[in-house]
Amino acid sequence: MKCPFCKPNEDVLLYENSLIRILIDSYPANRGHLLVVPRRHVEKWEKLEEDEKIALLEGIEIAMKKLREALNPDGFNIGINLGKAAGQTVPHLHIHIIPRWEGDCAHPRGGVRKAVLDLEDENLNLKERWIKNRMNENEIKILKALFSNI
Ligand SMILES: [Zn+2]
Repeated sequence: MKCPFCKPNEDVLLYENSLIRILIDSYPANRGHLLVVPRRHVEKWEKLEEDEKIALLEGIEIAMKKLREALNPDGFNIGINLGKAAGQTVPHLHIHIIPRWEGDCAHPRGGVRKAVLDLEDENLNLKERWIKNRMNENEIKILKALFSNI
């Protein structure tokens, strides 16, 4: 399959430098939905070079600044789907920049935290969701041990 981010159509290309591109998402989740992508075809975060990571962060800043100027959003959701299980469909890493406006949806609370919501979950109240999603004691212990030797 031809990668849409390696050779993007001119009509969606907003910006590029030697390391990144900023594109208009062709299937926008909201008005002004942009993508910040490395120029290099990289699927996983771990495969990015340090200068690419920095350039991607700068790309996020550029995208938000231009969207503020152009569309005056009240906020943003920013996220990356890493891996098929997380919903990644194009195997070229891309950061979603989604502008948000007061009132653009009925229940904005939670933002990207709702990325794992299923229709079934819509019927759970917040407390039930938190309980369902909490790590068990052993998982927390393992995680704390891993963070203790950074
Ligand atoms: Zn690609």
